[in-house]
Amino acid sequence: MYHCQFCKTKIKEPFLDLGNQPLCNKFIKNKSEFLREKKYPLAVMFCPNCKLVQLTCRLPTRIAFDKDFNYLTGANKDGKTYFNKLATKLYKKYKLTNGNFIVDIGSNDGTFLSDFKSLGITTVLGVDPARKPAKIANSKGIKTINKSFEESVDEIIKITNGKIHIITAFNVLAHTYDLNKFMRGIYKIMRHNKNATFISQSHYLPNLIRKFEYDTIYHEHSRYYSVTSLKNIFQKYNLYINTVFPVNFYGGSILVYSSLYKNPSRSVLKFISSEEKYSNLQIYQKFGLQVEVKRKKLISLLNKLKKQNMKIVGIGAPMKSTTLLNYCNIGTNILDYITEVNEFKIGTYSPGMHIKIVNDNNLQNNPPDAALILSWNISKTVISKLKKKGYTGKFIVPIPTPIIISAAL
Ligand SMILES: [Zn+2]
Repeated sequence: MYHCQFCKTKIKEPFLDLGNQPLCNKFIKNKSEFLREKKYPLAVMFCPNCKLVQLTCRLPTRIAFDKDFNYLTGANKDGKTYFNKLATKLYKKYKLTNGNFIVDIGSNDGTFLSDFKSLGITTVLGVDPARKPAKIANSKGIKTINKSFEESVDEIIKITNGKIHIITAFNVLAHTYDLNKFMRGIYKIMRHNKNATFISQSHYLPNLIRKFEYDTIYHEHSRYYSVTSLKNIFQKYNLYINTVFPVNFYGGSILVYSSLYKNPSRSVLKFISSEEKYSNLQIYQKFGLQVEVKRKKLISLLNKLKKQNMKIVGIGAPMKSTTLLNYCNIGTNILDYITEVNEFKIGTYSPGMHIKIVNDNNLQNNPPDAALILSWNISKTVISKLKKKGYTGKFIVPIPTPIIISAAL
């Protein structure tokens, strides 16, 4: 028996169990570390009361985001462009002037806040517990509190002195350990800034279900949101959702504007009525069964190629590849290696399955017969790039349904 992370309702069982899994971004530097690698249960469940989809086992922040957490927003070119556009949009929409505070929770290296600074707003404040990104932000002149948001609430109120116009939290509602504690902090700040808007961005659950993106489930994300579940959560803290935008970020996300006053646009009702079927357990149970069928299909497809003595390699080692490889038990018996362009991953071994990660030039030197595309969300780009490089083997795209594509096509 489990309990909902938010409303404590009893939940009997998960609708999808992905097995014991390592942290998806914990690539292993040396073979000697294989035995020390830790694994934790990875399973998802649905709360029939508040409609929240969540992991059965939450990992404490110090485990899920340890000192090795080095992701930098500024290093992601697409992300940088996206935040830049959004900052300009908010600047115009809210007619912001210097003195209006923008507070960004999980501000990382200050990429988003520095966009406001270039628009002339110097009253920006970041909060991020990760040491390295916060240090970079502060060195750029973006004042950043290097603590968790929950620990910083009083400090934020003191620094901003009732002048907050916008509070943002990108993908934070999925990461945070104690959702109620987090929301209490948001409410306390909003009470001091009654006209402020709280803007949160989350990976959109109905997309995940519809497109069978089961590999985007990992320990770092304890919860998966719909507008309906967010509405139920915000309601407890007197927050109203006023606008929702679908955004093409992270395989489909939603940008949600909320405040202490009610002023809903049509977008909110539209989202909520389209989500009706995601308010019942049945759709998730069906999804769980379908994912299991897709796993079997992928394994049998790979085994068939192996029986024909084909050499298979993996292309790309994003976070989601860890979930896919571990859940489908695809190891060194299937994949010779995985190629990557990220220099921090090259030379390491994949979490859990311990497949060697190599520079993507290896593909030309010793071409395989088939390539399993682990960054399947950009499979078109990957396929055309490999073809241009002279690759003539087969491609295997694992999601939404495992298929083989011949390079000749
Ligand atoms: Zn609940």
